[in-house]
Amino acid sequence: MAVADTFGRALRNLRISVTDRCNLRCAYCMPEEEYVWLPREEILQFEEVAALIDVFTGLGVDKVRLTGGEPLLRRDLPRLVRLLAAKPALRDLAMTTNGVLLAEHARALRDAGLHRVTVSLDTLRPERFTVLTRRTTHAQVLAGIAALAPAGFTGTKLDTVVMRGVNDDELAGLIEYARTVAAEPRFIEYMDVGGATRWSMDQVVSRAEMLERLAARYGRIEPVVEVTTAPADRYRLADGTVFGIISSTTAPFCADCDRSRVTADGMWYRCLYALKGTDLRGPLRRGVPPAEIAAVIADAWRARTDRGAEERLALRERAPLVQIGQLRRDPHLEMHTRGG
Ligand code: SAM
Repeated sequence: MAVADTFGRALRNLRISVTDRCNLRCAYCMPEEEYVWLPREEILQFEEVAALIDVFTGLGVDKVRLTGGEPLLRRDLPRLVRLLAAKPALRDLAMTTNGVLLAEHARALRDAGLHRVTVSLDTLRPERFTVLTRRTTHAQVLAGIAALAPAGFTGTKLDTVVMRGVNDDELAGLIEYARTVAAEPRFIEYMDVGGATRWSMDQVVSRAEMLERLAARYGRIEPVVEVTTAPADRYRLADGTVFGIISSTTAPFCADCDRSRVTADGMWYRCLYALKGTDLRGPLRRGVPPAEIAAVIADAWRARTDRGAEERLALRERAPLVQIGQLRRDPHLEMHTRGG
């Protein structure tokens, strides 16, 4: 059963955060010294996640991505992957990770049935990584990426948040590196999401500027023509190399957005910019029958009017979405809680 929202967007693509904890402190996501964490007893058990996925697949969801926080900090993650991979309704089961713990878990995740992995990689320079993430684990990230193909993964993507004056001189370097590890690079415009408390427009490198810079280096760049609801616009260099750009800040894709997100404690958000979500943990733990939870989800999706990134774009003065005080009061507004 496909459920469509007020703009005709289907409920298809779900991102599940399995933890709000992270082992990096990226400047665009977790720049503060201290955070308010979700209470442990409120974090969904794997069986609860699997039960929710059954409800969502019954409503048309066929793509699930595990995220966080850093999903590999969740103990025994391959067990969850195995539970989900056994569901025939899931056409695509992927994970987004920062790669730090990937080398040690890649094979177990693949054996458990994970289809694809996206690794966040913002720089090829260890010293820059340390400044950007406040951690010294760059070599582990590269080892994690290198472990994917031997473990049997294909379709790997490398996601880079491009920030002016931080890593915007590495676009070509990242394309060259991605070739060597059989991955597709994707460049993400720096977004003013919750948690990006140091965001400012002058640090955003737009898709147009990225393309201009890459054309100066590689010559002609052609758009890849495809019908998809994927967030990245894909482009091809003359030698056939394909890369993507996710232009959520300057050219949002709200019109096609079929994504929603469940936090590790079971709050369901229908837009990355949404300030309010729907608690699914409560009904699940109270033993509300799945059909009733499905009805709550379907009703909320049918009423969905969100087009958060477009509304942000329409603002004359643009500043971080949420201030620190509000983030402390409601950590669900944080990107690391909501899952990117
Ligand atoms: N820890 C995992 C990782 O690093 O991939 C998964 C969670 S992380 C929140 C998911 C994605 O959100 C990452 O690719 C990250 O770069 C992206 N992200 C976080 N804050 C962002 C921002 N302000 N603008 C654009 N992308 C952002």
